[in-house]
Amino acid sequence: MAAPAPFQLNGILAPLRDDDLRTIAADLQEAPFGIGDIVYEQDAPLERVFFPTTAVLSVLKLMQSGAAVETAAVGREGVVGFEALFGAAAARDKTICQVPGMTYTMTVERFNDHVRDVAAFRQAVHTYCRLLLEWLAQSIACNRLHHVDQRCAKWLLTTQDRVGRATFPMTHEFLSMMLGVNRPSVTLAAADIQDAGFIRYSRGVMTVVDRAGLEGIACECYATQSRAFADSLRGPLADGKAGPA
Ligand SMILES: [Zn+2]
Repeated sequence: MAAPAPFQLNGILAPLRDDDLRTIAADLQEAPFGIGDIVYEQDAPLERVFFPTTAVLSVLKLMQSGAAVETAAVGREGVVGFEALFGAAAARDKTICQVPGMTYTMTVERFNDHVRDVAAFRQAVHTYCRLLLEWLAQSIACNRLHHVDQRCAKWLLTTQDRVGRATFPMTHEFLSMMLGVNRPSVTLAAADIQDAGFIRYSRGVMTVVDRAGLEGIACECYATQSRAFADSLRGPLADGKAGPA
């Protein structure tokens, strides 16, 4: 069997048959992002969609106070910019790169064409949209009810699932934006988790050293939310064992 193409690391593209994949791949281009790079500015024209493979992108809600809080993160299980399907002409929220890596991109026009013409692709995109809505609903409840230590553990596990490796760049400032809490709270939560021996954090690099330990302190939402995307995250990078430690 032929080795999978790099874009098949994305969970929406991976299950497609060869003929469908060839049709869609003809319109894909590589689009690497570095940490903090801007994918969309808020209200910018929505011209391209992005399928992450090794990058994780973060959708941020910007408030009038200047605060920015992550509302969704998208890794190799998903696609950003899909709202173009439903008529969106502009990006409602700012999207930045949270974990550096590769994405594959195509124009909104070709994305809409393929969703219309390729049934399996349409189904994969629709399934992702449904799962993301469920994810967002769970996150609303999680943010309301669960302690920052639990949410921090959930976020670390989720990020490891998405990048497929135990080590990834991360700053406390970024983590506070992801969790929607102030930086001292994040620093305390991360210190608790590091003192327990579950992570190692040094000079902007996070290493998960004890997944089972993190799973033990994460809230129930990790199991619920990770189950939703389990099929999309299964593959060459699955279970966090592949890739550099
Ligand atoms: Zn929770």
